[in-house]
Parts: sequence; C-alpha cells; structure tokens
Amino acid sequence: MNKVIIFSAPSGSGKTTLVKYALETFPELEFSISCTTRQPRGNEIHTIDYHFISPEEFRQKISEDAFVEYEEVYTDKYYGTLKSEVEKIWNNQKVVIFDVDVKGGISLKKYFKDQALSIFIEPPSIEELERRLINRNTDDAETIKTRVEKAEEEMSYAKDFDVIVINENLDRAKGEIKNLIESFIKN
Ligand code: 5GP
Repeated sequence: MNKVIIFSAPSGSGKTTLVKYALETFPELEFSISCTTRQPRGNEIHTIDYHFISPEEFRQKISEDAFVEYEEVYTDKYYGTLKSEVEKIWNNQKVVIFDVDVKGGISLKKYFKDQALSIFIEPPSIEELERRLINRNTDDAETIKTRVEKAEEEMSYAKDFDVIVINENLDRAKGEIKNLIESFIKN
C-alpha cells in the first residue's frame, strides 16, 4: 500500500528537526517538496527546500487542480502540496513525508485516510515556543508575534491527529518518532 506520514506543529515546535531526523533514520522515506510564494530564507535552496514560485504561478496551479491541499499559512504567503510530488515519490517506491501546517495536516489526513499516519508535534509551552523562535534568529519581532498567536490557536487542533508527540526532550521525541514510523511502515 502507498503510504504517507504527516508532520504538523505550530512553527518553532522543533518539527523541522524531527522531520530531518526521520529522513536520516529511514531510507524508505522521501520528503514532499511543497510550493510556496514566500521568499527563500538563509541557505534554503529552490527545488530542495521548496519550489519557490510567484503568486501568479501558484494561482495557475490552483486552477489546474494541481494541489492535494494548499493554505494561506500567513497573509499573502501560500503553501501547497502537489499531487505530482506525491505520485513521483510513490513511483520511487517510497513513503511520503510531509512537513505542513496544522490545517494542511488535517486536510492531508482526510485525503489519505488509512494510508496516512498524522503526527502532531507539540511544544512544551507557548513561552518555550516564543523563546525558540527568538533564538532561531530568522524572523523579525512582528513575525514572531504573529507566529506565537497562530501557535496558540493551532494547539487546539492537536486532538485531530493520530498521535501527539511532545517535544520537551529532543532525544525522547526522536525515540517516540522512530517507534511510530517503524511500526507504521512495517504494517
Ligand atoms: P516556513 O515558512 O517556516 O517554511 O513554513 C511555515 C509553515 O508552513 C510551516 O508550518 C510549514 O510546515 C507549513 N507548510 C510548508 N509546506 C506546506 C504545504 O504544502 N501546505 C501547508 N498547508 N503548509 C505547509
């Protein structure tokens, strides 16, 4: 059976670190590269981290029904998962791994149903999340404020996921994820 694993979390929950860990640990997994209209940050690379596309290109793909799901994650910043990306990964005989926002994660679970394992990564607290975003040093104060407010709302959707992993201790969270993925891939 073709399978997918969905990682969602309020940003700053350490989700990206855990997705990277999963990819390094399981050669059976392949990352689904999303499209986004935001600008690349730091050393992000086009076609590796995201397909960085213009709002016009994004709208074109919407009209072609090219996305499994898409969201305006932040004002005027669109993110979407391409159907073609999922097909490509399945054709490679791999399990798809998604790093998406909470609403996107819920949409993907509804779409893929039993083919999907949806994992919600929960930060230990909102204060800790704010501290992590500040330490990451990639966003300005206004962006951090927006993200923290959004995170508070997103926490309420945790119950809609198959499993919740609390990322208080990174090694423990990694261990939980390793076990979850191992049993999902095997069955
Ligand atoms: P960032 O701008 O920090 O890379 O991502 C912001 C948020 O958008 C993160 O929660 C990330 O997981 C989410 N995201 C990335 N790709 C997609 C996608 O294809 N669909 C949805 N719904 N969210 C996405």
